[in-house]
Amino acid sequence: MNIFENDEQGYLGWIRNHPHGFVVNCDNKLKRYFRLHSATCAYIQSKAGHFTDTAFIKACSDDRKELERWIKQHPTPKKRKPHSYCLPRAGPPIGRSTGRVSKKPRIDRSGRPEKAAPRKSRRPASMDKYKIAYNYVVGADQRTVLPAHHNYQVSLKRFLQGEERDLEFEKDFVDVTFTVGQKSYIGEIKVTTYLSVSEAFRTALGQLLEHAHLGPHRQPGMVMFLDQPVDSGRIELATKLGIAVVVQQRNSYVLLNPQVAPSLRRVFTSS
Ligand SMILES: [Zn+2]
Repeated sequence: MNIFENDEQGYLGWIRNHPHGFVVNCDNKLKRYFRLHSATCAYIQSKAGHFTDTAFIKACSDDRKELERWIKQHPTPKKRKPHSYCLPRAGPPIGRSTGRVSKKPRIDRSGRPEKAAPRKSRRPASMDKYKIAYNYVVGADQRTVLPAHHNYQVSLKRFLQGEERDLEFEKDFVDVTFTVGQKSYIGEIKVTTYLSVSEAFRTALGQLLEHAHLGPHRQPGMVMFLDQPVDSGRIELATKLGIAVVVQQRNSYVLLNPQVAPSLRRVFTSS
């Protein structure tokens, strides 16, 4: 068993190299919280980071029983149940049911494992993750929500909540609806965990046009919320279609094409 505390690289390396392994997310005092996950679970490897350097640390092993015994050694933990998302009681856990994912690191000339080239968006490591990613892209299942998407939604909510804006999240198959002045807006959030920014743009664009036309709102304003800036050609296209593009940058939300909806300048930072 490996315990990773203040060791982000070590932890991320371990889960990358042990796709069939298990991880216990626990508080660093080992007193109150113990939650067993599959090493492929999205909840313990989101983009947000800080897996081992806050009040939480990670215990990792290929042997699930070993971790379960270890959890039991600690008195009165509040949460001992395995994470139901990745380790449901019935059936094989998510990310472990189909095929074998070859995750042996390639060895470079010096005998060290080769480092993977940095990529902007991660590709899913298994069929089940592909399914999750696919559902996310096409919006097939509103409950298929990635941790990064959830985080985006939470901070956007906090940001928009300040004033009376009839704010609603995940209603009528739209990520967010709000009003500015007399105008109501529908918003699609797309994070680039599994998507390139152009794919995120494309799917948000399609979903917004469809919802605006078929949804219950009467000629709503359309806003796509991205986590990365998009190129000028695409901004031009969005502008032509009347879609505002907002990018989250640290704690602010930047409106890339304010000419689409000048009233949105009151809400978002203009670029
Ligand atoms: Zn999990």
